[in-house]
Amino acid sequence: MSDYGQGVPSPLDLPFMRSVHDRAAHRRAEAGLVDRLRDDPATRVLRLRGGRVEVAAQAGPPRPVLAPATSEDADGGTWLFLGEHDGAALLALAVPDDGAPDAPGAAGGDGRWAGLRELAGLDDLEQGLLVEAVALAQWHSAHARCPRCGAPTEVRHAGWTRVCTREDRELYPRTDPAVIMAVVDDADRILLGHAAHWPAGRFSTLAGFVEPGEGLEQAVRREVAEETGVVVGTRPDDVVYRGSQAWPFPASLMIGFRARAVATAVRVDDDEITEARWFTRAALLAAVGSGEVGLPGRQSIARALVEEWYGAELPG
Ligand SMILES: [Zn+2]
Repeated sequence: MSDYGQGVPSPLDLPFMRSVHDRAAHRRAEAGLVDRLRDDPATRVLRLRGGRVEVAAQAGPPRPVLAPATSEDADGGTWLFLGEHDGAALLALAVPDDGAPDAPGAAGGDGRWAGLRELAGLDDLEQGLLVEAVALAQWHSAHARCPRCGAPTEVRHAGWTRVCTREDRELYPRTDPAVIMAVVDDADRILLGHAAHWPAGRFSTLAGFVEPGEGLEQAVRREVAEETGVVVGTRPDDVVYRGSQAWPFPASLMIGFRARAVATAVRVDDDEITEARWFTRAALLAAVGSGEVGLPGRQSIARALVEEWYGAELPG
């Protein structure tokens, strides 16, 4: 951990979290904003289908189509105002995934759609726009009806609220906080777990949702104890914040920590986690190198937490 004065470690620099555009939230309430921007040839539109984005055919890694609106853009979708960049407005058009075969979109895509986790090599603008658009679109797709009275809801504020048509009550996009932690013992080993639904050999940091009425540090200690039986210390520096990453699958905010174990005996819950192991650096490197262990993807905060402990990038 590098310091930025007073011994406070600087947070991790994480994929998806380096956005460069301006969300321009003050514009969301402008009357007719989306209609006006759709007609502006300078506006750029991302097209989403379910949680996937339309990508352009080109050499190298696929890139999202970011092009002006066309007359063929479906009226059945939900228009979202993402913000502004370099003087141009940025919109997303989110269409539900109806299960029909993928087809070329209106604006130069070649009919391929890709999930956020499949796209490598995106620049900071693209990453920031996609994570915002996917998170917002997934919230819309799950909130067509009011959770209190069941009446249909309508989109308002350029995609940033929905309103219950019976109660005139506003609904706001939700984000669900989850903690994710690199648990390290006093011998500087890291604790990694294998979840029941993962491919064989996949190991990652422990994680779990924050429960109602719970603080983040409490959630870290509870999740680690529940899943592995390992005890995290209660001193102020036994749970240290390391960074956060939006993870819109569908609505998580991953809040990352380094946690210090004070009791290391492993007893897995056999429900979510079926195996948990302590690794030294040499043992993890060897296990990854031999293919015995597979680590989480390079876009994830889990990977960043493991590599921060390790002190370098790991293969695989
Ligand atoms: Zn209602």
